Amino acid sequence: MCGIVGYIGYREAWPVIIKGLQRLEYRGYDSAGVALMNDQLRIFKKAGKVSDLKDSVEGEVLTGTAGMGHTRWATHGEPSDRNSHPHTSGDDRLAIIHNGIIENYSSLKETLLSRGHSFKSDTDTEVLIHLIEDIQQQTGLEIREAVRIALDKVIGAYAIVIMDKDEPGELIAARKGSPMVLGVGDGEYFIASDASPIIEYTKNVIYLNDNEIACIKRDELLIKNIDNTVQIPYVQELELKLEMLEKGGFDHFMLKEIFEQPRSIKDCMRGRIYPAEGYVQLGGIK
Ligand code: GLU
Repeated sequence: MCGIVGYIGYREAWPVIIKGLQRLEYRGYDSAGVALMNDQLRIFKKAGKVSDLKDSVEGEVLTGTAGMGHTRWATHGEPSDRNSHPHTSGDDRLAIIHNGIIENYSSLKETLLSRGHSFKSDTDTEVLIHLIEDIQQQTGLEIREAVRIALDKVIGAYAIVIMDKDEPGELIAARKGSPMVLGVGDGEYFIASDASPIIEYTKNVIYLNDNEIACIKRDELLIKNIDNTVQIPYVQELELKLEMLEKGGFDHFMLKEIFEQPRSIKDCMRGRIYPAEGYVQLGGIK
């Protein structure tokens, strides 16, 4: 199960994101990547551990007060640098990180290929960012609206964060079926798959609901539903301490592991077992 961490505010985003990804390492993953916004949109990604990613960026410019990071649990395309997230649009203007599966990605990909798009990875995720780009090219709509329309065409589960080079002060986050939490700070916002990367900065959180899209600036938050109605965010105060959060509310790690087994098995099999077709596909075994 992958992890997502996003930040926009006044701090340097890189250390917040890397630390956050490390807090989510318990979820299991095969690759890691980060996008940072400074004078340009910079992307760093690597198969392997978050520590491998850190080692690979020595000497790079890692400044920027907005960014997003991802740990990937591959479902579409082998674990590799090329298939790691973030993925970009054809013109490299948009970047996306995604947790989940776009089930109708192959029909969307066919349509996009016929319209001249070409792809750099084997992932379902890259198809989604090209779809958003395509909608913008066809309609001239702003990014938030293009994301909403694209998500309406998507079947599957997702938690996503999107960055747009032309909107450097904004992150767009959305979810359906995959968890996502927003941390509300003073002049800053955090995004994560669970509250553990957020809690040391703020206790005020918003749990995004299915089908909600959040447009996040450092001092402004707008949440809309996929049908374009504005939602009033419900900010709640986290009572759990970091140690408790890491134990998922259980008294001991052992209990947590026992109760997480059904979900862990489901996550392992996600995208690999197709019950309707009576068919199993495991990486490396044809
Ligand atoms: N389906 C996407 C991929 O294979 C995201 C997997 C994940 O949830 O990490 O890249």
